[in-house]
Amino acid sequence: MWVSACKMNPVPLHARFLTNEVPVTATILDGKTVSAALQDDIAKRVDAFTAKSGVTPCLAAVLVGEDPASQVYVRNKERACQKVGMTSQLFRRPDDISQADLLQLVEQLNHDDNVSGILVQLPLPKHLDASQVLDAIDPRKDVDCFHPSNVGLLSQGRPNFLPCTPHGVVQILKHFNLPTAGKNVVILGRSDIVGKPLALMLMQRTSETCGADYANATVTVAHSRTPNLKELTQQADILVAAIGVAKFVTADMVKPGAVVVDVGINRTDDGLCGDVDYDALLEVAGAVTPVPGGVGRLTVTMLLENTLKAAMIQTSES
Ligand code: NAP
Repeated sequence: MWVSACKMNPVPLHARFLTNEVPVTATILDGKTVSAALQDDIAKRVDAFTAKSGVTPCLAAVLVGEDPASQVYVRNKERACQKVGMTSQLFRRPDDISQADLLQLVEQLNHDDNVSGILVQLPLPKHLDASQVLDAIDPRKDVDCFHPSNVGLLSQGRPNFLPCTPHGVVQILKHFNLPTAGKNVVILGRSDIVGKPLALMLMQRTSETCGADYANATVTVAHSRTPNLKELTQQADILVAAIGVAKFVTADMVKPGAVVVDVGINRTDDGLCGDVDYDALLEVAGAVTPVPGGVGRLTVTMLLENTLKAAMIQTSES
């Protein structure tokens, strides 16, 4: 049995990863611990940067409408800014704002020297063209890494910014010493915010922040038109679920010992849950992220990292 073997001869997580031994209980990849460590480091670098440049990095958040989840996300981002010594500004607009007025606000923030990074909280109301709004953000202030020029640079392996959620996934793997190099990574979901940019990052020769061991994966991206999904997921050394369907990934879809990263955040009658059947996977996977308390924590932290980087880029140019 894995448990007794483990007690007699403890094997570190990275060595257990994909051995033939099947763990009875998966290691829980706690995002809170990773996030706290990274935020401590960011706070020190913010302090040093501000002391040297006289500039306090500032995140401008644009919140359109009254969506309760978006309000929570923006509040969390503002609190996180405070924690690491950055400032934030919130620009609330009614949900009937016109496209022209929203574009004008983005333009105003682009030219505001006190603003380092701009975040437009998604989703926007249906009458607004989100792509046009995101394209209007100055690429040097594009801390969500949605601007086509930043996505292009990312795909070429010379990123300006790393997209927040995918970067959070890589940081969790790094923290727990679970390299991706040479591994089969299957990503469920091909969105512009998670699946696609994560695939771009993991297929590169190196990761800007985590090194070559956290790139160089063989990446498969699956979506709603992918047939035989289970056959694919069973091949995954690392399985990332980012589809937005509660508990979609069941234990029989996972290779014993695999690492499972759950990006999903789904609101159900029983509360928040991810895209994987967490309790069932604990008995099959080698390691799994919880929801809440997993990737979501890292998304906010990587936004702080990008805001600091944006402030540094703008300061070096001025
Ligand atoms: P999205 O834009 O709706 O994209 C969902 C993707 O999943 C699409 O590519 C879709 O395929 C695919 N998909 C949907 N149902 C599927 C199925 N039954 N089988 C296979 N593929 C399927 O979603 P998203 O913005 O990437 O978000 C995904 C989840 O992650 C959501 O729960 C969201 O709340 C969460 N999220 C969490 C964080 C975080 O910080 N933790 C950040 C962002 C998002 P098609 O392309 O074919 O439609």
